[in-house]
Amino acid sequence: MNPNNIDELKADGYRPACSMTNSQFGVVILIKSEHDDLTQEEKRPFMRAADSVYNGLENIALSRDPEVQERHQKQREDLLACFSDCGTIFVQDVPNEYCPKPCCPSWHIVTTSIGHIKVGWRKRVIVIDWHETTNEEKADTLFADEDVTKDARMIHAWGCDKAREYINKLHEAAQT
Ligand SMILES: [Zn+2]
Repeated sequence: MNPNNIDELKADGYRPACSMTNSQFGVVILIKSEHDDLTQEEKRPFMRAADSVYNGLENIALSRDPEVQERHQKQREDLLACFSDCGTIFVQDVPNEYCPKPCCPSWHIVTTSIGHIKVGWRKRVIVIDWHETTNEEKADTLFADEDVTKDARMIHAWGCDKAREYINKLHEAAQT
């Protein structure tokens, strides 16, 4: 029996157990079993396998999509431009902590004169985390007037203008 020949597989008793498809890619799991009355519970491992393969295919499609790559490149440039007033010594790209899949751009650890600032897109906001800097002020103190998500030494900026403003403030506050 040739596993690459669908007709031979069917003749040998293989049947589709589950599938996940779209117009660009998909996965079909063929099984051979002496039981043709499988329950949902019994089929669950097949669904999990199909789901895993589908995610793999989706990741390949996204990571090779020039439009996605271009968008991520632009987002990276926009983010790093927020540091232009304070100077950047080194930039390390790190996995996106909100969504590590290729649909979302990587995050960055940006080294400046005050230490390491972690920045990255999380949906529409920019996460700015200054735990690894000499600025020990908490977000609640430093950005008391800002009505955004804050946590210890982390704040969410709504867009690049706000991110630049927060990043500049972090540097001013650390140096005075
Ligand atoms: Zn994502």
